[in-house]
Formats: sequence, C-alpha cells, structure tokens
Amino acid sequence: YRLGKIDKAETTCGFCAVGCRFEMWGKDGNALGVQPVDDPDNAPANNFSTCVKGKFGHDFANSKKRLTRPLIRNENGEFETASWDEALDYVTGELREVQDEHGVDAVSCLASSKGSNEEAYLIQKFARQVLGTKNIDNCARLCHSSTVAALQQTLGYGAMTNRINEDIGEADAYLISGSNTTESHPVLATRIKQNVRDGADLVVFDPRKIGIAEHADQYTRTTPGYDVAWLNGLIRYLTEHDLHDEEFIERNTKGFAEVKRNVQAFTPEKVEELAGVSPDELQSAAETLADAENVVFGWAMGMTQSSHGTENLLAMADLALTLGQVGKPGAGLSPFRGQNNVQGGGGDMGTLPGSLPGYQDPADDEVGEKFAEAWGERPPDEPGLKVPEMLSEAHEGNLRGMYIVGENPALSEPDIQHAGEALDSLDFLVVQDIFMTETAEHADVVLPAATSPEKHGTFTNTERRIQRVRASAEPPGKARQDWEITQELAARLGYDWGYDHPREVMDEISDLTPIYGGVSYERLDSGDEHGLQWPCWDEDHPGTPYLYDYEEGNFNFDDGLARFVPADGGHPGELPDEEYPFTLTSGRVLYHWHTGQITRRVEGLMSHVGESFIEINPTTAAELGVSDGEYVRVESRRGDIVVKAEVTDRVGDGTLFIPMHFAAGAVNKLTQETFDPQAGIPEFKVSSVRVEPL
Ligand code: SF4
Repeated sequence: YRLGKIDKAETTCGFCAVGCRFEMWGKDGNALGVQPVDDPDNAPANNFSTCVKGKFGHDFANSKKRLTRPLIRNENGEFETASWDEALDYVTGELREVQDEHGVDAVSCLASSKGSNEEAYLIQKFARQVLGTKNIDNCARLCHSSTVAALQQTLGYGAMTNRINEDIGEADAYLISGSNTTESHPVLATRIKQNVRDGADLVVFDPRKIGIAEHADQYTRTTPGYDVAWLNGLIRYLTEHDLHDEEFIERNTKGFAEVKRNVQAFTPEKVEELAGVSPDELQSAAETLADAENVVFGWAMGMTQSSHGTENLLAMADLALTLGQVGKPGAGLSPFRGQNNVQGGGGDMGTLPGSLPGYQDPADDEVGEKFAEAWGERPPDEPGLKVPEMLSEAHEGNLRGMYIVGENPALSEPDIQHAGEALDSLDFLVVQDIFMTETAEHADVVLPAATSPEKHGTFTNTERRIQRVRASAEPPGKARQDWEITQELAARLGYDWGYDHPREVMDEISDLTPIYGGVSYERLDSGDEHGLQWPCWDEDHPGTPYLYDYEEGNFNFDDGLARFVPADGGHPGELPDEEYPFTLTSGRVLYHWHTGQITRRVEGLMSHVGESFIEINPTTAAELGVSDGEYVRVESRRGDIVVKAEVTDRVGDGTLFIPMHFAAGAVNKLTQETFDPQAGIPEFKVSSVRVEPL
C-alpha cells in the first residue's frame, strides 16, 4: 500500500450518509488513521464525533485482496490480468457490439452511491450521451426510492427538509420508525440520545426492539408490513381530538379533507388488528407528538423497503403536515439515508431512469435542449429500466449488456438465485469495483477502482450538504479513480470529455443543475463555508438549511402549497401460512455496511460480528426446540440458508431477523421479489420462512 504525495487530508466519511468530517492520514507507510476535525464549524454534521466504522473501519483500503489490475475472463472462464488499454478496448468493443446487434437500450448502467457526485454524474452522462441508452439507475432504488417518490408528491423535493445537528439534534420530540439508528447512523443517534437525556420525548414504532428503543419514552412493537395502518390511525386520532395544526393546514396545504376522510377507516380496532398497536399506545403516541413544540420524524429502510413503501411515506408526510411540523427549527421530515453519497450519487446527479441531474425532466424541451447544447446530444427523454427491471429483463434475454460500478446486486437484490441467473444471462458484463465482489464473479471484465480515501470529489450527505472528499493515499497497483475510468471509456467511443480534475466536472454540474448552481470547489475549499446545502442557486447563495417555511410554506410546487395525499397500504406480498409460518425481516448491524464487501475485510469489525445470524424470540425458540448459539436451517420459497441462532426478545414471537451483510448465510437467498409499484423498491422486510434445528 503506497501513500500518495498527500499523507493527511480533511475529508468526509465514506460509510454512512451522516457525512462525518475528519482528518485522515497515513501511518507507518501502510495504514490509515482518522481523527475528528477539531472545529465544530468544520464538521457540521458530526461536531467532532465518529463511530466505530468511521474511526476504525478504513483498514479495508490496505487489504491485500484489493483489485490492482484489470481482469478479463478467458475462454476457459478464468480471469487473466490485462493492461488498461486491452481491458478498455475490449469493454467498449463489446458494449458497441451488443448495441449494434440489439439496439441502444439493450445495455444499461448501474451507478453507485459510494462514489463521488462527479463520478455519478459522469456515469449517467456516459449512459445517456455516449451509449445513448435510457437505462441508468443506481442502488438507491433499494433503499429510499419510496421516500423520494412520497416526498416529491407531498412536499415537492424528495429530500430531508432540515439539518442534522441543529434540528434533529434539538427537537422536542421524535417519532422514529424503521430505523435502527444507533447501529446504522450512530453519530446521528448520539445526538438524539443526548437530547432525550436532556428532556426530549422519543417515540419508537418498530417490529424490533432496536437500540434506540432502549432510550424511548414509548416503544411500540409493530407487525411488519402494516405501517400505513398505525400512521393513518395517528392522523385519525389527532383530527378527531382537534390536535391538528389547523392554521398551518389552511395556510400552506391542500387535500387535507380527502386524507381526513380516508383515515376514518383506520379505527383503533382496525389498527390493532393490522399493525398490532393497541388503542392506548396509539393515543399515547398521538398526544406526545401533539404536545411537543417541534417534532422530527425519522425513518429508514424499515419503512421504505416495502411493497407499499411509497404509501408508508405518504402517510408519514401526511402526519407531519397534520401536525404542522415542517419548515421550522427542531422539526421536519428526516429520512436517514444509508450510503455515504446516496443523496448525491443516488439521486441528485441524475443516475435515475427518467430524471436528469437535479431531478430535471428530460422530456421538458427546455431542459433537453440545455443538455443537448452542453453535450452535443439530447439525452433520451423516456424513463429507462429500474434496477429490478434490469435484472428481470436480463433474465428474459432482453437486456444484453451491463456496466456496473461499485454495486453488488448479486448479493443485494431480493432472491439472489434469480439475480445471479440474470447476470449470467447477459452477453457482456463489466464490473468496476475495489474488490472481487459476488457480482464481479459473474463479469466478463473487472476494472480496478479507487476508494474514498484515494479520491478527490464531493459527497452529499443525508441533510443535502455537499462536502469535499480529499485523497490521503493513492490507489494500489494500477487501480484508478472511477471518473478517470469512465472518461477513458467515453474517449474510446468518440467522446473526448477532457476533464483534468473532478473540479471541472463540478463546474459542469453546477452549470447544468440549478439546485447545485452555486457549488464550486473554490467555495467548498475556501474554509469559509463548511459544505453547502442544496438548493444553492448561484455563487452568492448561502445554501438552504430548510427546504420549506412554516409561515410562508414555499413548498416546491407552482402554488407553494404542500399536498396531502391519501395512503391506503394493504397487505405485504407474502404472509405467513402453515408451510412457512414465520415473518422474516432483515437489516443492518453496527459493525458492518451493506453487502459487507468492505467491512468483511476489516479484522477489527469482523471480531465483533464475524458471521450471519438469526434473531429468534424465546417463545418461538422454545416451540422450535432451538437454543441460543445453535445452528438452524431457514427456508423460504426461494431457497435456504444455515445460520447461528441468537435467542432474544429484540424480535417478537413469530418474527425473525437476519442481517444483510454476509455472503455465507445470505438473507437475500430467502427474500421475495415483490416491489412497490411506484418506486420499484423490493419488499425486503417481509418474507415468509420456516426454521428447523440442524
Ligand atoms: Fe461515518 Fe456514519 Fe459513522 Fe459518521 S456515523 S463516522 S458518517 S459511518
């Protein structure tokens, strides 16, 4: 592992989307250390702290298993090292051949939320301008696509309305649901816990009694898959008891009467029957939230990864609007997003089917012409395939080539047997990553990339704050930064982009993307501004801490009014039955991250949680005759795995939990392919399984 010329740099964490700032430096020539920035202004999201992953989790960059040379699969099916010229010529030749034979849309690109904004921008530009395909999507499809769909419909922007430290950290009350905050967003959870210790009220609704619930004034265990029921039940209670914010609703919203009518069906009895929430629990939560001056609503994948995830979040937005808890300090709708750059790389940069950078509509002629002028080609104006559709179309033989950057669908998709078959059905697959991932194992060509301590660029965190990323080391061997690789591919296909540095890519982004219009490296590097929250319209604009205003509204619609949108929910795609009597849910643990490609390489993290496991309630375990620490077989209609049992009352009787980070005992061998019809997000949180001791 070689240190670059710079051996210490102020940068942004490459794990979760809290976006903690710290200094990173080389030590003894072959390791990386981290120290929080000793300046709260310079660390707006984390105010000095880091969690265990941020502080000790960067050893993966030193792993001997890093990809260091391009690899091409030979005719015997084995990978052979190749030069960059050989690999890039081969990739571009094969992609063009697929397109010549089967049409431009026979290829797709899958972008990453781990890379920088500049890299994500270039991948969608490569797809739209160079390949001319409409098929570009990214892994945010699997995490918060339903959040974006719901918040765009109700508030206008599909993003967090407020700030981390000043608002989430200082609310009078919280409603948190479907977020294992202490393990998935530890620094953010610390802010909440501190505030709760100082007197704020915390209400947690979740099927698992997760860490944050230990600090709650009210923890209510819910039945997986029925969140719309209890959310609508809360709205019903609030309106019935005149606890809604009538003036705010009158002044700043429309559609309230329809939602009020719709929630009448969600009587306390109905809510209890569907969601397992008692009338007393419903009343107590409603009164706590109504009594508070300022309320933050926080959620993550427990709410989003559902066959009616968009409706879950419509109901959450309706609840916040009912209480008038948007557009003021200490309040707001706060999706806790997962990967480091999922806000920027997963959405803002246009790595979405049918959405250009800054969520601009390619079918809008003015927008289309603007891009045509800048790129020389007008981007396709129809929406392309979403990630799950890419895999099903590949399985059917309709999609023939894929360029996957930094993502691992062979482990992250539901029903990975099907996902693996889909990848194998492609005529050509190129994967760009830092390790030989489960997805790269299916590839024809693997390109070695750099990781966040080795690159320059920007990340946008979950509060819409654009922050600088700076290299403190060089990529190993022949590995390159992703933006350089994509630029080389474009050049071979006749598009000479000519960027010398990511700063020039950001200049192009700000020219074409109004919400990033005032963002530049000059500003971000000046030391005066510690990240900029979009929208940042021009070089004099200070950024936007609050997307909306409690008094004025300013919701992102022509009339400035927020929309109440009724949500009905429904049943999950699979319910327990005699054959598969238990409900399986999945999620994260503190020491790991996503499909574990990075954290499974860090000895210090593996020493805490080194293998997959299943949480089983003591009553369920007793019925099954399973003891703590024993290995069990878990089977669904898709497949089976063997994992170690952890007998715990974190889960309720009949509900099971398996983490998502492991290839051995992979939970997605069991999960089902039911999708939210609006957002295309899979229903990871509800699958029916059976369990037997070995
Ligand atoms: Fe990194 Fe998230 Fe931990 Fe902060 S909370 S150090 S951003 S993983």
